[in-house]
Amino acid sequence: MNVLKISFLFAVTISIINCKSAQSSSVDEKTQVIKNYAENMPAYFVNSLGDSIKTVVKSKEQWEAALSPAQYYVLREKGTERSFTSELLSEKREGVFACAACGLPLFRSEEKFESGTGWPSFWKTADDRHIIKDTDHLLGYPRTELMCAKCGGHLGHVFDDGPQPTGLRYCINGVSLSFVKSNN
Ligand SMILES: [Zn+2]
Repeated sequence: MNVLKISFLFAVTISIINCKSAQSSSVDEKTQVIKNYAENMPAYFVNSLGDSIKTVVKSKEQWEAALSPAQYYVLREKGTERSFTSELLSEKREGVFACAACGLPLFRSEEKFESGTGWPSFWKTADDRHIIKDTDHLLGYPRTELMCAKCGGHLGHVFDDGPQPTGLRYCINGVSLSFVKSNN
């Protein structure tokens, strides 16, 4: 009896949630994917230095409050900023490029290069375990999507036409990054 009651309440709750989020199907589908991903995120992950890092899971409302509309569009809805709009394109000082949503270090100035694409580009990550890779087909062909391992935020994509020694090009939305200048 109790199990039936709980199942019924659960079904009603899910229906209410579905009704509430049925405004725009494309955005909602993306949001749902992100929501599922966030719910499936582990509580911690371990980086290459052996540090245990606590993952960040927030609700849609909490992310909206924490991020600018442009940041929310890219980081939480997997949008793409317009090319040649990021002020980080010309950032040449020594430092670290961290996730704009959670502060996890993602890239370093040493591995930044001028790709000519209009998006900040790197040939190596600061730590591969700080970035999660997935495949998306949003443009009709498979691309390797990059997400922050701590908060699940969308960063950009990686391509295999970068400079040596890796031959990789991490093509990142500048709005997903915050630059932390080195003290040296
Ligand atoms: Zn993050």
